Amino acid sequence: MSDDTEFFSQRDRMAFRRFALNRLKSGTFDLGDGAELARQLDLQDRPDEVGNNVLDLSLMSLRQYFAHAYRNRRPDGSRFRVYPAFVNGRIPNAFAWEFRQVHLCGVYLGLASVCHEFSLFCLAQQTTFPDIGDPSVETSPESIDGFPPGFWLYQAGTDLDEAEQIARWSSLQPRDHHRKQAVEYLTILMLRFVWLHELCHGLNGHVGLAKSHGWVPYLHENGVEPSRGIAKRQIQCLEFDADQSALYMLCRIQTDGLENIPGLCDWSLPERLALSIFAAYATTWILDEYARGPDAPEETDHPDPYQRLHNLIWTLASNVAPIVPDLKPIHMACLGEVGRVAQVIPSFLKPDMIIHDLRAKTLEAELSGFQEDLSRLRGDLVPYRYTQRQKS
Ligand SMILES: [Zn+2]
Repeated sequence: MSDDTEFFSQRDRMAFRRFALNRLKSGTFDLGDGAELARQLDLQDRPDEVGNNVLDLSLMSLRQYFAHAYRNRRPDGSRFRVYPAFVNGRIPNAFAWEFRQVHLCGVYLGLASVCHEFSLFCLAQQTTFPDIGDPSVETSPESIDGFPPGFWLYQAGTDLDEAEQIARWSSLQPRDHHRKQAVEYLTILMLRFVWLHELCHGLNGHVGLAKSHGWVPYLHENGVEPSRGIAKRQIQCLEFDADQSALYMLCRIQTDGLENIPGLCDWSLPERLALSIFAAYATTWILDEYARGPDAPEETDHPDPYQRLHNLIWTLASNVAPIVPDLKPIHMACLGEVGRVAQVIPSFLKPDMIIHDLRAKTLEAELSGFQEDLSRLRGDLVPYRYTQRQKS
C-alpha cells in the first residue's frame, strides 16, 4: 500500500482554499499568511481581532497533533489526510468536510476573535484566575457598552472609528505580564478544543456518513446552513460524539505530556488540565451567547449548548476520570474559576446550577437518549471511521 504521507501538502492547502472560496465564499488564513494579512488590512496599529502570533501558534501547535492522525485508516484501507486552516469569515463558526480526498478543518477568524476578546476580558479582572501573576494590578474593566465579553468587536467594534476602537480595545488588556501570556494560552486552548472537535468529525466517520447520505452540504458549528431536515437527530448525535472525543484528546495531550505551547508546558498537570477543561466549557457558553445574538439563524440542527456542557461533564466522569486519578479536585478548581468568571459575566455558566442539574432527571434522560441513539449510529459509522487497528 502506498505511503503517501506528505503532511499538510501544497495540494491540500489548495484544496482548502478552493473549498473556502467556492463553498464558503471566504478567503483563508494559513500559516505564514499573518504578515501578509496584517499588511493588507493594515492591522499592525489597529485592535486586530487576534494577535497574528496567536493564530500562527494555534495552527503550528495543532498540526503536531493532527499529524498523528495520518496513521489512521478506514476499513477499506484509505489513509486519513487532513488540512487545517482559518477561514476569513466574521461569524464565530467552524466547519469540517472532505474535499478532493482530504479532510478539511476550518475555524473562522470570527470565532478566534471572540475567544481572544473573552480571554482578554477574563484575565484583565482582579477577581478571576487568582493564581496567575498579580491580579491586584489589573483594572477590572466592565464589558464594553454592555456587550457580552467576546462579542463587542464582533457586533459593534468595527462600526467605530479607528481611534475609538483602539481606546476601547486597550481597556481590555491585562497589565500583568503572566496574565497577558495566559490570555494567549486560554485563547489557544479554546481554539484547540474546536480544532479537535472538527478533526473528530473526520476521524469518527461523521463527514463520510453525512456526505454519503447527502445530509448536509458540510458540517459546521453555528447553523448558518441548516441540514436538509432529514437528519437533525443524527447530526445532534454526531455533535455530542465529536465533543466527547475532542475533550478526551484535549485532556490526553496534557496527561501524555504533549503540550507544545512554550510557557504553558511549565504549568503543573492539574493547572493545565483545569484550564483546558475551563476552555472547553467556555466554548459552550460562546455558542449559547451567539445563539442569543442578532445574527443567529432562527433554527439550528445543533444540540442545545447547555446539553453539550453536561455531555462534556459526563465525558469527564466516564472517559477522563480513569486516566486522571485526582480529577475531582481539578474539576472543582475549574468550576471555581467558572464561578469567578460568572461574577463578572452575568450570562456565564453558573456552577451551582451545573452541580444541581447533574442530578436533574430530565437532563439525564435527554442525554441518555442521545447516547443510545449514538450507540446505534456507530454501526453506520464503521465504514467511514479511521482507526489504527489495521496493519498495512
Ligand atoms: Zn461539530
